Amino acid sequence: MRLFQVDVPAPAGLGLDMIAVPEGALLDLDLRLEVVSEGVYASGTVTAPLAGECGRCLEAIDTEVVVDVQELFVFPDSTTAETTDEEELPRLKDDTIDLEEVVRTAIVLALPPNPLCQPDCAGLCPDCGGRWDDLPDDHSHDLADPRWAALQALTSPDAPTGPPPTAVADSTGDQRPDRLKEN
Ligand SMILES: [Zn+2]
Ligand SMILES: [Zn+2]
Repeated sequence: MRLFQVDVPAPAGLGLDMIAVPEGALLDLDLRLEVVSEGVYASGTVTAPLAGECGRCLEAIDTEVVVDVQELFVFPDSTTAETTDEEELPRLKDDTIDLEEVVRTAIVLALPPNPLCQPDCAGLCPDCGGRWDDLPDDHSHDLADPRWAALQALTSPDAPTGPPPTAVADSTGDQRPDRLKEN
C-alpha cells in the first residue's frame, strides 16, 4: 500500500455553469493506492476550491468542496479486464493510473446545480434588484403612492423593462440612431 498527498492544478471546465473549480486552482489529493489481485485500488479524498455565483442573488461564492473518491484500475491482462469494458472500470496503462476522470466525476456530482451564498439567501427585490440581505428590514416600493403611479404611467409605455440610465447614455453616445434615421 502506498499513501500519497499531492497538489495538482485543476483542468479547465471542472464544474457546472454556476459553480466550478477555477482552472489552475490547486486540487489537494489525499489518496491511498493498494495493489489488489485484479489491479490497483485508489481511494481517498480530494479537496477543491470553488468559485461561483449565488443562484438567487448573484453574490460571488468562494468556498471549497471535499469529495471521496474510490476506483479500481484493473490490470489490462486480468480476468476482470476481459469481462468488463473500459467505461465500467478504467485500466492501468503503462503502470500508471489516470485519476482525472475519477476526480472530475466525483467533484461534478458533489456540486449543487443551484448554489446559494447562504442556505437562507432571500434573493433580490424584484422592483429594484437590491439584495434583500443588504436592504433595510422595512424596504418596500409603495406603488400605490400616486406620485409613483404617475411616474410609472410616464415610463411604462416606452420602456417597461428598459436598460438602466447608464446603458441608455452609452447607446446614444455612439450615434447609431441618427444614422438609421438618415437612411
Ligand atoms: Zn444569495
Ligand atoms: Zn427594492
